[in-house]
Amino acid sequence: MIFSGTTALAGIFGWPISHSRSPRLHGYWLQEHDIDGAYVALAAPPERIEDAFRGLSALGFRGANVTIPHKISALKACDTLDDVAARIGAVNTIIVQEDGSLLGRNTDAFGFLENLHQESDWRGDKGPAVVLGAGGAARAVCVALLDAGAPEVRITNRTDARAQALADEFGLTLVPWNDRADALDGAALVANATSLGMVGQPALELSVDALPKSALVHDIVYTPLETDLLARARARGNAVVDGLGMLLHQGRPGFEAWFGVSPAVTPALRKFVLES
Ligand code: NAP
Repeated sequence: MIFSGTTALAGIFGWPISHSRSPRLHGYWLQEHDIDGAYVALAAPPERIEDAFRGLSALGFRGANVTIPHKISALKACDTLDDVAARIGAVNTIIVQEDGSLLGRNTDAFGFLENLHQESDWRGDKGPAVVLGAGGAARAVCVALLDAGAPEVRITNRTDARAQALADEFGLTLVPWNDRADALDGAALVANATSLGMVGQPALELSVDALPKSALVHDIVYTPLETDLLARARARGNAVVDGLGMLLHQGRPGFEAWFGVSPAVTPALRKFVLES
């Protein structure tokens, strides 16, 4: 790829960052739309991250994505926040404004909902939703479900106090971790937002016996694509959606803001990103 003097620049901050699939994702879209742009991995250690955010404008970057462990630092560094980022309490997308100031957005909730809408017939108002987990991803999932009109969001987490805090903040129903299987009774959606079931992590122990067969089962873990939870749910006849689409869809708003084109998530893109 040959860059010009007017190549539009964006990237992703993380520490470490070499494992990120985002350069491949945005690189695919840049090539697909024949855009004079570049999207690079930006390895910035926590003690330099504030300087790094401030450097975006000086270097002529249009913006950047932000991943672990910098999402809360990004929230503090941005001059303005969109409503969703403020509610989630983390920024994963920075857009450099014309005056050089930084707008912070969080597109994880968007990615979560767009993935479910593209891959299933689930709609928020179909019934109660169950969220497993109370970390950063779970916060985004809860905000998404509330915005989608879920009539009730039940939350359960190994550390009950973290789930309690989220329940208090967002008006959710707290279910003790030991009773998590009971939370599935009458649910229209269950979403795993813990790291359980991910390669290298313990399995998610969750009986799905109480879950209606009409419910959608979603796992935001995407390594492996078919987690044990999804395999067991699929085997008993539930519709399932894996987590890769959330990752791909969350990239769309940033790409559009930096490069001026609204990109699509297609089977060819999924295949390309998985090959990395
Ligand atoms: P996080 O903030 O570190 O939260 C981890 C969550 O997993 C917490 O709820 C934690 O419970 C729970 N957990 C970890 N180990 C556990 C164990 N042994 N038993 C029970 N619960 C356990 O991480 P995160 O950023 O929310 O990410 C969570 C997962 O989502 C990761 O696998 C990540 O890759 C995935 N993710 C996917 C996408 C996507 O686009 N598909 C986006 C973001 C994240 P405690 O509170 O008790 O520690």
